[in-house]
Amino acid sequence: MELAKIKTIGNIGAGTMGHATALQFAMRGYQVNLLDTSKEALERGIDGIKNDIKTFQDAGMLTDTAETVLARIHTTTDYKTTLAGADFVIESVVEDMAVKQLVWQEAEKYVSDHTILATNTSGLSPTEIQSVLNKPERFVVAHFWNPAQLMPLVEVVPGKATSEATVSDTVALMNHIGKHAVPLKKESLGFVGNRIQLAVLREAFHIVDEGIATPEAVDDIIKYSLGRRWSLVGPIASADLGGLDVFKNISSYLYADLAADKGTDPLLDKMVSEGKLGLKTGQGFFPWTGEAGETIVNDRDTQLLKLLKEDSEQ
Ligand code: NAD
Repeated sequence: MELAKIKTIGNIGAGTMGHATALQFAMRGYQVNLLDTSKEALERGIDGIKNDIKTFQDAGMLTDTAETVLARIHTTTDYKTTLAGADFVIESVVEDMAVKQLVWQEAEKYVSDHTILATNTSGLSPTEIQSVLNKPERFVVAHFWNPAQLMPLVEVVPGKATSEATVSDTVALMNHIGKHAVPLKKESLGFVGNRIQLAVLREAFHIVDEGIATPEAVDDIIKYSLGRRWSLVGPIASADLGGLDVFKNISSYLYADLAADKGTDPLLDKMVSEGKLGLKTGQGFFPWTGEAGETIVNDRDTQLLKLLKEDSEQ
């Protein structure tokens, strides 16, 4: 489908991710029909959208007025109203295969034949979700990263039945709304970003568990080395720069010593069983009492906004 033919977005779910995707489309001029299960959930979503609009406005990154952007978002609890005129649908409901399959079966009743259907699942199989659809070839994953209004990446992941046109049209649309879309060649558990994140976390927890370094030290080591470098030159290009023979030598003695647990993580199991869940319980690897959580999130989001502004000015 030509990008210019996409005018209206159906946005299913108005929570953490859904409110942010709705805003991304509205800021780029699209009409957005925002669906959730209750008036209260929609109101919470709109409050989040207003808050994010103000952030973009204060940063000088809103090209239309706040009222114009907000007026493009139409809230409803009715599937037909949301989907009847939609050219592209993005879904961000709870991460549960049965719920997602039900939502998509219901959605497919109302969409046009040309409509692209995209799920923002964090890692559920698109092949399994699309197996319940009559036209599975127009179904794809568009995996945004949280906070979706500030993080550029969208992983676009085909299921086994997804057409190449669905992938390329979705990539084009995501890039058009200012995201950085990266298509995968085929689906994999956790896609790519979460596979790498979890591989790093498994080793980070292992290092702490083995008493090699404290959580503070692990975070500092990443922030001041790999974190900095990888935002400029990715790990694979960095390996090229360092010399693949060097990495071959390191891998020959280090791979065998790295964490390779196949089941659940022993340290994570212990922390969770002690009720140390992180910010939400006030204690994880670090204490999160008082304003510590709010401060770190605000500081992070301020920096993310700055980077996003630099991206848009390039
Ligand atoms: P959330 O709980 O904040 O929001 C989910 C919303 O969906 C809620 O408002 C809920 O009322 C609504 N909902 C539930 N069932 C529905 C239905 N049948 N029809 C319409 N709306 C319904 O969750 P979230 O964090 O926004 O996650 C949503 C999806 O995005 C999940 O698949 C999740 O894995 C994925 N995701 C989350 C993150 C993250 O960091 N939060 C990142 C990337 C992807």
